[in-house]
Amino acid sequence: MNTTASSPTILPGATLGVLGGGQLGRMFVHAAQSLGYATAVLDPDAASPAGLVAHQHIHADYLDDRGLAQLALVSAAITTEFENVPARALQALAAHRLVAPGAAAVAICQDRADEKAHFQRCGVPCAPHALIETADDLSLVNEGLLPGILKTRRLGYDGKGQQRVSTRAELAAAWDALQRVPCVLEQMLPLAYEVSVIVARNAAGAVVHFPLQQNLHRDGILAVTTVPAPDVTPALQDEACAAAEAIAASLGYVGVLCVEFFVLTDGTLVANEMAPRPHNSGHYTIDACDVSQFELQVRAMTGLPLVPPRLHSPAVMLNLLGDLWFDAAGRERPPSWDRVLALPGAHLHLYGKASARPGRKMGHLTFTGPTPAAARNVALQAAGLLGLAAF
Ligand code: ATP
Ligand code: MG
Repeated sequence: MNTTASSPTILPGATLGVLGGGQLGRMFVHAAQSLGYATAVLDPDAASPAGLVAHQHIHADYLDDRGLAQLALVSAAITTEFENVPARALQALAAHRLVAPGAAAVAICQDRADEKAHFQRCGVPCAPHALIETADDLSLVNEGLLPGILKTRRLGYDGKGQQRVSTRAELAAAWDALQRVPCVLEQMLPLAYEVSVIVARNAAGAVVHFPLQQNLHRDGILAVTTVPAPDVTPALQDEACAAAEAIAASLGYVGVLCVEFFVLTDGTLVANEMAPRPHNSGHYTIDACDVSQFELQVRAMTGLPLVPPRLHSPAVMLNLLGDLWFDAAGRERPPSWDRVLALPGAHLHLYGKASARPGRKMGHLTFTGPTPAAARNVALQAAGLLGLAAF
């Protein structure tokens, strides 16, 4: 069953299902529960962050027919928190239950080439690129794309599945290193900074958005999000929001969608990629907005009203990676939460992951303040206490 404008509203008391048990699922579950919904999570990991807090945890793989059937049985509507959930699983569920976002939209987001083609269909510029699927594609590559970044078409995240290349020889070696899977070679662009925009759209076509977030990545992983985006002009904000809304509308999208953009040194806006779900750069909305991205996901999929969210406090979010759980000698110990929580406007979110590993997203900290400078100032103090680089 696909979402249509005539779908009845799913009211609190019903059960909402989630494919995937990571931190995005956990924060979705929290939002659904506070609105009075019951929740069910399908994830193979017995200790998954979302499974730990949901009413029901179905321990099954994303392609396990019995697990999927059970999720469909108990849920009035189902969403996904995991972008790489097989499209086949969403299709199977959609035969019985409302699924938002739909399988076709998620499938486009799973493939960098399809995603870029979709941006172009919507008139939204993206990086100059070429598809690399055969040795011939490699030898025919236009020199103008070098230096560039070779990215696998599928399954990349947090900078994984990517290699920077400057010469044809490096390009060939990089493709070998990526096991010669289908790739996209993107021209390396001169970035001034990066932003993202989160929109929520429902089956009736209503759409709302958060203000632009400005994002700093380190080693390909989001490190800091600042809102309001310090470098963004009102014209750029309007351009990015219009682009994200057009992208969502042309997909017939239902749910929360995040579009990541580059802003080039000449001020041009270029779409990088999109995520068919709430996004790491929107975690600040829990503490700094009157409606969070997770609540908007609940509202969009159930047909409850979508209201434009309001940023009530400037905010800075710091991602907390597992590296912070180790001292200089490599011994594991918890970070100094007591000192960080003594700072005004600190909101600590830990995802309940049992073990810390370098690069693993363990939680985030959002600092809200009366002014952008105040929020930034306490976030910088926290970064200093935790041993994070200044920004
Ligand atoms: P995510 O976790 O956001 O899904 P990802 O692994 O899909 O990450 P990308 O968003 O494609 O990776 O790239 C990660 C980062 O690398 C970008 O945020 C940007 O800083 C840099 N980057 C990627 N592509 C380009 C490019 N064409 N030119 C310049 N920098 C780039
Ligand atoms: Mg990205």
